[in-house]
Amino acid sequence: MTPSSPTPTPRQSVSETGPPPGTDGSRRPLLQVADLRTYFHTASGVARAVDGVSFTVGKGETVGLVGESGCGKSVTALSLLRLVQPPGVIEKGSSIRFDGTELLSLPEREMRRIRGNRIAMVFQEPMTALNPVFTVGDQVAEVARVHDRAPRREAWRRAVEMLALTGIPAPEQRAREYPHQLSGGMRQRVLIAMALMMNPSLIVADEPTTALDVTIQAQILELLAELQERLGTSILMITHDLGVIAESVRRVVVMYAGQVVEEASVRKLFAAPRHPYTSGLLAAMPRMGERRERLEVIPGSVPPSTAWPTGCRFHDRCPFAWERCLAEAPPLYDLGDDHSSRCHLAVEPERREHPHPPLVTLERGVA
Ligand code: SF4
Repeated sequence: MTPSSPTPTPRQSVSETGPPPGTDGSRRPLLQVADLRTYFHTASGVARAVDGVSFTVGKGETVGLVGESGCGKSVTALSLLRLVQPPGVIEKGSSIRFDGTELLSLPEREMRRIRGNRIAMVFQEPMTALNPVFTVGDQVAEVARVHDRAPRREAWRRAVEMLALTGIPAPEQRAREYPHQLSGGMRQRVLIAMALMMNPSLIVADEPTTALDVTIQAQILELLAELQERLGTSILMITHDLGVIAESVRRVVVMYAGQVVEEASVRKLFAAPRHPYTSGLLAAMPRMGERRERLEVIPGSVPPSTAWPTGCRFHDRCPFAWERCLAEAPPLYDLGDDHSSRCHLAVEPERREHPHPPLVTLERGVA
């Protein structure tokens, strides 16, 4: 922050400010998540996997949700589709508005209509998401049969068309094959075809390229971008990989310990991250043309969601933590220009001058 910058203020919640505009210029974003809390009530305590998360996705926009495993990204995705299984509960006061409708108050019958029709999900492991005993054509066609009550022949025709659209060569022939006969990249294309079958407004893609090698990963990301441009679909891209984020989204939401800790445009986040956790993730990322002996790592690991640390949840891994961080949970500070960070450095930037070994390394005696 420059000396002339206004003092950052805690960001108002979406419900206080009214909905921000969608990227298509409309007043309302397609998806508006506000104060989402998904808790698991277990014998060993309450796991607050998602703990007050708010973000939006505009119409035709791709937003990245990024963080390490255990930060709450996948539970957020399942919550959007109301697929959280007991003992998981979406707590009262949470809100998920989709195209103006509050999903959390819909009867399950109506929610089933939204799943697959309006919001589709692409899972991370195509081999487990596909049924090994049915042909891929049958599985893609099944989407039209279930959601659209399409007759068998019509559903098959649409399935083949969709496989062709996702770039599968010889789609007629491939449609008659079983998942194990296809490569990992092909199987992921089949999952994308299934997701696109009903022309959804939003695709939630949970680590869609994790199981793929880098060349196929690049092809799948390119395919998603191309389809999005052609069909105008919004995408929520969930990943632990900032490389995927750099290539595929315009706006990024960073999650840590069940909360949003930073949100910015991809350009700003990569050029000037403001939260030490985001900086740590970026330092751990390999970059083209850069020779480094070793990649940086963020010391320690994400704490269990039954016992988030007091104060700032990142304080034991942070190289800047001071007394305030241990005592006072930081709000999401509004830094202006659609950039926000859940870090007290926003209001005490001079603390950046004094990095030190994080508590977690001192506790282990390895500093
Ligand atoms: Fe680190 Fe303190 Fe910022 Fe948390 S609030 S990220 S501990 S500097």
